[in-house]
Amino acid sequence: MKLSFHGADRGVTGSCHLLECAGRRILVDCGLYQGSSELHEDNSAAFGFEASSIDHLLLTHAHLDHCGRIPLLARRGFRGEIVATAATRELARVVMLDSAHLQEEEARYRARRHQRRHGRAAAVASEPLYTTLDALDSLAYFGRTATYGEPLELAPGIRVTFEDAGHILGSASVCVDVEEGSERRRIVFSGDLGNAGRPLLRAPVVPPSPVDALVLETTYGDRVHRPIGPTIEEFYQVVEQTFRRGGNVVVPSFALERAQEILFVLREGVENGRLPRLMQVFLDSPMAISATEIFARHPECCAPQVAQMLQAGIDPFHLPGLHYTRDASESEAINRFSSGAVILAGAGMCSGGRIRHHLRHNLWREDCSIVFVGFAARGTLARRIIDGAESVRIFDEDIRVRAQVHTINGFSAHADRDELLQWHGRLKPRRTFLVHGEEDVMRGFASRLAGAQVEMPELGASYAI
Ligand code: ZN
Repeated sequence: MKLSFHGADRGVTGSCHLLECAGRRILVDCGLYQGSSELHEDNSAAFGFEASSIDHLLLTHAHLDHCGRIPLLARRGFRGEIVATAATRELARVVMLDSAHLQEEEARYRARRHQRRHGRAAAVASEPLYTTLDALDSLAYFGRTATYGEPLELAPGIRVTFEDAGHILGSASVCVDVEEGSERRRIVFSGDLGNAGRPLLRAPVVPPSPVDALVLETTYGDRVHRPIGPTIEEFYQVVEQTFRRGGNVVVPSFALERAQEILFVLREGVENGRLPRLMQVFLDSPMAISATEIFARHPECCAPQVAQMLQAGIDPFHLPGLHYTRDASESEAINRFSSGAVILAGAGMCSGGRIRHHLRHNLWREDCSIVFVGFAARGTLARRIIDGAESVRIFDEDIRVRAQVHTINGFSAHADRDELLQWHGRLKPRRTFLVHGEEDVMRGFASRLAGAQVEMPELGASYAI
């Protein structure tokens, strides 16, 4: 049995791991590298394995850094079966189509830039990583649906069980049980683990022991989150203070989970009189709007309180002043609101999307607030603003950063250091492979796993299990 690593190795994006066992080749996730536009080369590089040789792809969740290279995998010859939960399957469809659209746009942008600089058309650089058609084609490979806690016979001698990872809607840790002759092995892939106690989802489930090998994410292996109660209070205070100053609150927001969580929190704030009833809230992201609709279809993935609301026909995201703005023209019209609005838009790391327009209109205004509620990778616009840049470049224009910048980390969809340690401690794996973390964070985390056999695989590394 062999385990090899093809993405998110000493980095937080591009998750892709390959397990070879019982005569099958099983990929776990096939994510996109994200962070800066220079990553096109990493994304278009060879996978490190033959796409056509993969029998199964187990998808832990629908974030782009876990599913974003699936259309490329199919384009390069993958004809196997993708297994995921029902919610992940629906969300991944939206995410991959959106990504294909962005890839096409970026390719056009690169072609224009090349033409401007060199006076002639570019050959390779203008090719999109994949097209909308590739994304649609790849949907054909979604096969069986996984249900939390129910083992599924993937192939003779291989059983997989998806357990609720509590990270985003439909997210899972995957437990692979393999029988080869008289040998039995259990390998667990954590996927991304959630932060327990958040309002919409349940806490991550710990798969059964004993575990021979664990592939563990370490995104926040170096920090402890603020509890959710004070986090929500801090958010309400920022909204109140900003409205009092006469400004807007701009929230760069991931379309999956974070946007729904913020809507839910705003709704609760209005319900309990903490926030103004007629506050204007804009969900300015077609993908987040679709994700919100998909959310309502999956009470089986929700925390009990939210599942009950959904089953009773109550919309957990309803606000009197809420506007879903799908069209670009509606999005532009938001700029007419100079005060009293909460604007949620993507991308969360501000690397593209409508958020850049809202930053252009609000970032230079002292009375406005920009509230970061999620992870910001190095090299992204979000990270530059968080790190205190005095001005940033948006659409070829230098914009002064005069708005109040807040980072509210307690909303994190990722387990913090202590939660990761606890989850690892309960699983007690014989070997641990750390992935999905920045290298210094991973080293610090590894030093806390005293007595455990820990590896930090390099890209392309492989291990006999
Ligand atoms: Zn994730």
